[in-house]
Amino acid sequence: MPITIAIDGFSSCGKSTLAKDLAASMGYVYVDSGAMYRAVTLHFLRMSIDVNDADKVEQGLSDLRLDFRSEGTHQRVLLNGKIVEKELRSMAVNKLVSPVATLSNVRAELVRQQQYIGRNGGIVMDGRDIGTVVFPDAELKLFITADTQERVRRRVEELKRMGSPTPAKEVETNLSERDRIDSTRDDSPLRKAKGVVVIDNTNLTREEQAAMCLALAKHRA
Ligand code: C5P
Repeated sequence: MPITIAIDGFSSCGKSTLAKDLAASMGYVYVDSGAMYRAVTLHFLRMSIDVNDADKVEQGLSDLRLDFRSEGTHQRVLLNGKIVEKELRSMAVNKLVSPVATLSNVRAELVRQQQYIGRNGGIVMDGRDIGTVVFPDAELKLFITADTQERVRRRVEELKRMGSPTPAKEVETNLSERDRIDSTRDDSPLRKAKGVVVIDNTNLTREEQAAMCLALAKHRA
């Protein structure tokens, strides 16, 4: 039976790398729920929607269309029919995404879509509320963490690779601010789900982490 694998944790802990590795090994679909929150945020930025204006937010949500395109095991998010991958990772989106993710109507809509995508199992989804809210009955729930400096180093490298070099200090401020908002918001704060396996990957290689989690997944499948 295909199982559901829910991965949560702080920003830039390597959740998506692990999720992709697990999906490839298990022959499952990988869904990056953060990309969905990022797509809503990009949409609001493009429409100049003030996230404190509830009517404008409602209107913005009604104009929004998210689609998914399979690329191997990855479901890539399209915003109103277009691939916007690079913009989703921009600093402008990084700065606004956590405030957007506090909005209950945004969360309700995205959770609904995530549960629909994962209704038949055979899915690896990463985010902040996957094991607690989206799939509380997931067979395998993982909570990933890593040392802050290591996370900053990884995000700085990612931004450089994308052609948007950003000073480490600015990256660090953004990561800690997002973690603070994500962990303290009223609706679906980042928490360790019941029955979760916590993994600190600061000193693990990608391969070691993947092998460890794959063993857990196979045990539950
Ligand atoms: O995973 P990623 O860092 O791309 O997520 C961007 C932001 O989206 C997070 O900092 C968080 O505010 C929000 N998010 C969320 N719930 C999820 C996934 C992401 O609130 N399931």
